[in-house]
Amino acid sequence: MPIQKLQPKSKATSSRMRQIRRENTSPELAIRSQIHKLGLRFLVHTRPITQSLAKPDIVFKKSRVAVYVDGCFWHACPNHATWPKTNRTWWKKKILGNIERDRRHDAELSAEGWTIVWIWEHEKPEIAAALICALIHHRDQN
Ligand SMILES: [Zn+2]
Repeated sequence: MPIQKLQPKSKATSSRMRQIRRENTSPELAIRSQIHKLGLRFLVHTRPITQSLAKPDIVFKKSRVAVYVDGCFWHACPNHATWPKTNRTWWKKKILGNIERDRRHDAELSAEGWTIVWIWEHEKPEIAAALICALIHHRDQN
């Protein structure tokens, strides 16, 4: 599939894409700030292993824990997924492509002993941060 075929067709689609920032989204920043408050240190938007293109939002290298904060729209959250009415085929392909790529990255990291945490943007940052913190402590003890 040539890359230009995956471009949005209409102005409305382009502006929707522009409105949604993929990195440093506010749910992601909120979770990062909570984790930081809990005393954990981490890397952001970095590739944990060289043999994979996976680039999680939050990376705990020593504990080998990778965190993704996913947009409900972009990753088709079961509670809030919406399928735009215009350019339906394009969007479906795009979003299903995201999911497929996520799963592939997940498998590549798991194969190297990483634990992957997926957080939906609709989840409470305090709760997500507490969960991540508990996981890190557990990983560091074992
Ligand atoms: Zn959601």
